[in-house]
Amino acid sequence: MQNIAVIGAGTMGNGIVHVFAQNGYKVNLADISQDALEKALGTIGKNLDRQIKKETITEADKAATLENITTFINIEEAVSECDLAVEAATENVNLKLKIFKQLDDAAPENAILATNTSSISITKIAATTIRPEKVIGMHFMNPVPVMKLVEVIRGYATSDEVTQTIMTLSKNLGKAPVEVNDYPGFVANRILMPMINEAIYSLYEGVAGVGEIDTVMKLGMAHLMGPLQLADFIGLDVCLSILHVLHEGFGNPKYAPCPLLVNMVAAGKLGVKAKEGFYSYTHGTKELIIADPFCKKVPA
Ligand code: NAD
Repeated sequence: MQNIAVIGAGTMGNGIVHVFAQNGYKVNLADISQDALEKALGTIGKNLDRQIKKETITEADKAATLENITTFINIEEAVSECDLAVEAATENVNLKLKIFKQLDDAAPENAILATNTSSISITKIAATTIRPEKVIGMHFMNPVPVMKLVEVIRGYATSDEVTQTIMTLSKNLGKAPVEVNDYPGFVANRILMPMINEAIYSLYEGVAGVGEIDTVMKLGMAHLMGPLQLADFIGLDVCLSILHVLHEGFGNPKYAPCPLLVNMVAAGKLGVKAKEGFYSYTHGTKELIIADPFCKKVPA
């Protein structure tokens, strides 16, 4: 396996490209937005500079990594010779179904089609293709160059051979893959999102403020980041989409998204990528400045 295509150049796409390119794979990165492609290359460059500063890679490694990356606006062109396509576009079921139809038509017959979806059914995505045995979930964690885990999700029809190929490939990328089955939210988000939602409810109901909630979970539970800060990093729109999938998938009201989360997404307060969520990131992500979000306007 040598040629990889990554679809979607946002938060996750740029990290996935970074890791493949750094490990010697040729990567075609496609997005419908030229701006997103340029931003992704900028972010990859900055993250490689950080690795140089830490002396984990050299300038020559950086140059070789960047040389492995080509950007495309046209998905069909990007995947025409790939061995593996990893889709990391916006978390929206209809969009993913449309993209997988395109991938199935344009990628070589033997290519594996993977999705980085956080929650959408792999089986449903696979069913839009004529190669469901070659469709699989390859769920990287954010930030991809740093986080070890890859949740490898087998759809109903995913073959043993394809699962093994993706498990081995993940190890070759220096990651620790874990195989799971295809149910809403898989394992990671089935457990994480109810916690984030509950943290937002605690804020919404006035149990405590942003800083207090995150401090309790950091110091009390030894979490590296509080749930509200983590939600900002993931993207509040992504969190909301995952909660919708859990809510619909299990038909259980315990997954209903908190109205404050719904409001913040509607207001465009999406977290780090929008420079504001529960915290303000106009000065970067190092210093935690509590934003003045809608929680101030929550009924008492
Ligand atoms: P994002 O909003 O940062 O980026 C999505 C990108 O997809 C955008 O650049 C957008 O222009 C592009 N896009 C939209 N339609 C497209 C199309 N038709 N063709 C090509 N590109 C298209 O989203 P993200 O946070 O990077 O999430 C991407 C995927 O990864 C989602 O499925 C999400 O659930 C999953 N994921 C996210 C996280 C996280 O922490 N953000 C973690 C794990 C998995």
